[in-house]
Amino acid sequence: MQYEGTVYRPPSEARSLIVQVTVGCAHNTCTFCTMYKDKKFKVRPIEDVLADFDEAAMLYGGHIRRIFLADGDALIVKTDILVQILNYIWKKFPNLERVTAYGTTQDILHKSENELKCLKEAGLDMVYMGIESGDPQVLKDVKKGVTREQMIEAGQKLKSCGILCSATLISGLGGRQRLREHAVASATLISAIKPDYVGFLTLMMDREAPIYSRIVSGELELLNPEDVVEEMKLFLQNVDSDGTVFRSNHASNYVILKGTLNEDIPSMLDYLDQVEQQGKYREERWRRF
Ligand code: SF4
Repeated sequence: MQYEGTVYRPPSEARSLIVQVTVGCAHNTCTFCTMYKDKKFKVRPIEDVLADFDEAAMLYGGHIRRIFLADGDALIVKTDILVQILNYIWKKFPNLERVTAYGTTQDILHKSENELKCLKEAGLDMVYMGIESGDPQVLKDVKKGVTREQMIEAGQKLKSCGILCSATLISGLGGRQRLREHAVASATLISAIKPDYVGFLTLMMDREAPIYSRIVSGELELLNPEDVVEEMKLFLQNVDSDGTVFRSNHASNYVILKGTLNEDIPSMLDYLDQVEQQGKYREERWRRF
């Protein structure tokens, strides 16, 4: 298997076979993200990608149940190439159950509905979208490169084409300064998309990230655990996304929270009250990117 640089994956792909279809991220300007800053973006030749799958099939064959197509936005690859890859792997791995990839808003909007339906038909089950925030000001500040409206359009488009949508938000991305705006606008954005899954990470101090200078200057104040709980409560009080599986179980989070929207919102709010009263937060030393 030919891996280039550090390979990242969503937490739920921990047991998946990961193969790089692309290297790096074509966008690569988000100021909080350091994942692909050391890589020059490229699409790998299909022969190399298929050779990796051949090798994995020889080594692990029937044990592979899930495949994650890396890197940062595999969905940017031309649809006919992705369809060839998907057809190949669904034939190659007899016990395969699910194929997923990261996709940016730009990637989704660049594909026609027909192309997305072809990808679904060929076996692309889910796309992970980094939403990060629903607040237009925060999106601008972190150089996300797309608007709130474009993200809503992309999320809805995925869903209407039958591809599951897993959205990620970042707690604290607006700092203490925009805590309320970030929480409420993220909730209304999720309500508009109604993704199948939504997960929260929490912004951490990373000296390598471009956002670090804003943190050091005080322009963006990191949230403490109590602030994170306040932000999460605001999100839960304003979201309306029946059936969405909610997870805040990333290693960067101060509080682990799981449930299904909207039915579990009251119990999750109760749990946050308890956490606040008892001060039961993940210790700083156990938090990870
Ligand atoms: S957050 Fe996503 S889109 Fe932004 S630079 Fe990182 S990988 Fe690329």
